[in-house]
Amino acid sequence: MEELTELFKKFPGIGPRQAKRFVSFLMHTNNSYRQELITGITHVNDKVVTCIDCNRKFINYKNTDKCSVCIKTRDNKNLLILAYDNDIEIFERTMAYNGQYFILGKYIPLFSEKAHEYIDFDKLYKRIENLNTKGLEEIILALNATSDGDYTIKILKENLMRKFPSSKISLLGRGISTGSEIEYADQETLREALKFRR
Ligand SMILES: [Zn+2]
Repeated sequence: MEELTELFKKFPGIGPRQAKRFVSFLMHTNNSYRQELITGITHVNDKVVTCIDCNRKFINYKNTDKCSVCIKTRDNKNLLILAYDNDIEIFERTMAYNGQYFILGKYIPLFSEKAHEYIDFDKLYKRIENLNTKGLEEIILALNATSDGDYTIKILKENLMRKFPSSKISLLGRGISTGSEIEYADQETLREALKFRR
């Protein structure tokens, strides 16, 4: 039970109490559900590849190394840095952004001194270096206004400013209130936050 609880605690946003609830749920559920879950988990990465541009995971139906967004022609002036794969869809739906993306995959937990274990800085730097040759003007950090989000922004800013001292780095503006998560922001709020970035 404890081992399973530890595994569930690694899921984003899941604390020890929720993790124990998952384990309890699994113990009470029927065997066919558990088998289905095991099969789903075993095959979750089949055909999944990482986009060479934005670092997003996607299902590779068309034998391409770029995701459905990066394969389109988009402007190279802005790079929006996001935490999760799904965040791209959320910003695409606002129809207010036509620049490039980079997905971190994870937040750096508050006070963690091992930022490199959470974020692939080398890949991010390569992406910025490449876009710099194509006219990149601004890097926008669009992360949750939570403690982990703020901490991740702080670490990213420190590293990016050291590595790319002449780059303009901005944050989402008003609208995203403290404690709020991008996933739950409505489109109008995100459009405003993009427009009034600081
Ligand atoms: Zn992509």
